[in-house]
Amino acid sequence: MSTPQAASPRLGGVSVATAVDGAPGLTSVPFGSNSVQHGTAVFEGIRSHAGPRGPLLFRLDDHIDRLLGSAAALGIEHPYGQEELRRLIVEAMAASGLADAYVRPVLYTPEPRLGVDLARFAFRLGVETWAAPGAEAPAGPGIRLTVSPWTRPSPRTFPTGAKATGNYAVSALAKTHAVRAGYDDAVQLDPHTGRVAEATIANIFAVRSGRLVTPWTQESLLPGITRDTVLRLAEDLGIDTSEEPLTVDDLAGADELFLTGTASGLVSVASFGKCELPPERAVFEGLNRAYRDCVRGRGTARSGWLAPVVL
Ligand code: PMP
Repeated sequence: MSTPQAASPRLGGVSVATAVDGAPGLTSVPFGSNSVQHGTAVFEGIRSHAGPRGPLLFRLDDHIDRLLGSAAALGIEHPYGQEELRRLIVEAMAASGLADAYVRPVLYTPEPRLGVDLARFAFRLGVETWAAPGAEAPAGPGIRLTVSPWTRPSPRTFPTGAKATGNYAVSALAKTHAVRAGYDDAVQLDPHTGRVAEATIANIFAVRSGRLVTPWTQESLLPGITRDTVLRLAEDLGIDTSEEPLTVDDLAGADELFLTGTASGLVSVASFGKCELPPERAVFEGLNRAYRDCVRGRGTARSGWLAPVVL
């Protein structure tokens, strides 16, 4: 297979960073910034898709809740509330002029001081937007997935639901190792149970005899917003779903495997380790269609899931 698509899409076009206390334009962060030196920033990744009447940000409020939760989990203090973050992210999107986009709000500290007591630093928001593939982009043949020798961090090491930049060194380690070994991505295991947790920056689903299963949140994983969306869409489609413990053998015996994440949406898995998966992927295709309709405002999005970019 020659089209590694993995769970990180090619982002194109000019990225625009907006520091909210400055004018839109490329923003520089001091090299000595604590966020650069120690990975002490929290962030979100949000997708916007072209809708019938303009760009639609998908599940914006849920992403903002998670951003606020990540900041609280790390003891980061900042001046923003839900409403202000919403306004600033929508403004950054509107300023970008993009419709199909990946939007990254980051709470970071520009302060060029060392030390790791985050209460001593002033944090502020920056928002970066990239052009990203639209919901009509072809699904691709699927990725080559393996199992990483690197486990997820224990929840006793780091709060698994928090998106902090420093924590992504763990994902980078596992992903880089997988790509060097000839795969596109890797599943990481829970450090205590040894069961499947998630892929490096995405959640995982398996289909077994028509049943859709995903690791339960007791494993060390980030319970993704796309994961939640897929579980709800599956219910709408009458698919039997379950969040439960999953082993590597469960994945190896699956009829279908796919990953979910905001950046890439649903990504089908073509092979797991040395085993090819069957080419039929009816459950993936049905859910991918429903997801793509939903993010464009064509399907049955729940109320509050689509935020129009209007000022
Ligand atoms: N797990 C990890 C470690 C991630 O970084 C992501 C991407 N945010 C996900 C899962 C998927 O989460 P979401 O669907 O909310 O993007």
